[in-house]
Amino acid sequence: MADGSQLAIIGAGHAGGRAAVALRKKGYEGAIHLIGEEADPPYERPPLSKEALAEGADPLINRIGSDDFYRDAAVELHLGVHAESLDLRARRVALSSGVELSYDSLILATGCRARRLPLPGAEHERVLTLRSAEDCRRLRPLLHAGARVVLIGGGFIGLEVAASAAKLGCRVTVLEARPLLLERALTAVVSSHLAARHAAAGVEIVTDAAIAEIRHGASESEVCLADGVSYPAEVVILGVGATLNDELPRAAGLDCADGVLVDGACRSSIENVYAIGDLAHHHNMLLGRRLRLESWENAELQAEVVASTILGEEAACNSLPWFWTDQQGVNLQLLGCGESWDEEVLRGSPEDDAFCAFYLRNGRIVMAALINSGRERRPVKQLMEAAASVVPETLADEGQKLRDLAKDLANKA
Ligand code: FAD
Repeated sequence: MADGSQLAIIGAGHAGGRAAVALRKKGYEGAIHLIGEEADPPYERPPLSKEALAEGADPLINRIGSDDFYRDAAVELHLGVHAESLDLRARRVALSSGVELSYDSLILATGCRARRLPLPGAEHERVLTLRSAEDCRRLRPLLHAGARVVLIGGGFIGLEVAASAAKLGCRVTVLEARPLLLERALTAVVSSHLAARHAAAGVEIVTDAAIAEIRHGASESEVCLADGVSYPAEVVILGVGATLNDELPRAAGLDCADGVLVDGACRSSIENVYAIGDLAHHHNMLLGRRLRLESWENAELQAEVVASTILGEEAACNSLPWFWTDQQGVNLQLLGCGESWDEEVLRGSPEDDAFCAFYLRNGRIVMAALINSGRERRPVKQLMEAAASVVPETLADEGQKLRDLAKDLANKA
């Protein structure tokens, strides 16, 4: 298994780990160096805010590649090591361990880190974030029954943490700056449904919350709002989104704009340099535009695409964006991303446990939110990928099966 070529992957997270696995499965024969600053080997992150917190599952429950795989496939892991600088001309990367690696091909998969807030008191040992298995190990023991937990930010990860903490018996408050939870990703109907489920589980949700500072006493902190109200907490968690780990490619001179700019095959502006996962501002062939996605599926797909590209096979990012979240007994799946729409169609009622919300533009579904309706994902995806014209009344009619609509479409094609 050696053809003399050297491949370096910077970022041994989800996409980086999966790329190493895909390259070997597809027959890449050169040396592979997988460099990651976390001490843990590659793993999937979704369980960190869900079963690892709520049920105490191992944060590495979904590892990517076993120890045996890395040994047998001769993938050299450089863990606990930060890639410090990159010389694109000389094709060398300098590591914090003092090692300098030469490469023929380079995959950048450095993802994101949890965003911090420039707020008085935000840098304190009682103010935590959740991005890594190590963060999860630190946070879990603090979430004991009765603990007062304040979440700053009602984004997906923050709300999953809120749900897990409530399940463990914590007294949870979510402070959200906007009038609605997840306002950028969801519409009022879906957002209100989630908010109601959190409230029913005892989570206090405060919207339009302008946070002024976080004060810290000997054993307790206090999150203070600009209007004078304050919320005591033994644990404060920031759930205010993610910041790109793009310092390395930017300093090296790669074309970046909200991530590393890559084409549909994950190729950057420099030959033999690729970017994947959360870091990649990529071209999606199906949507006909560039976008950056922070999702499990995107990390999976781009790892496959980049492996094929490096092996000289045709491959492209051309799937419909898909994201899911699990919180308070709600499995919410989102298809499509950031599209403008002119009509909302509901199938089922938000009063119920399960319903779907469709967003149409010119009579075609451009986004969909499936609430406890995962079985509808396939037909909805088919309708969306085919840009099929849909009749709103038919979509709303629960008597008409979505899979029959998708089947009709396939028969007509
Ligand atoms: P990461 O997995 O973050 O990997 C990047 C790695 O690069 C990290 O290990 C980082 O430490 C390392 N790194 C950065 N800079 C350097 C450097 N200079 N040198 C060496 N190493 C470096 N998505 C969903 O679709 N559904 C979900 O339910 C869901 N739940 C999630 C829950 C949590 C708590 C989190 C954090 C994310 C969740 N996601 C979910 C998103 C999904 O996990 C990410 O989109 C995915 O991990 C992105 O993979 P990545 O490889 O691009 O980044």
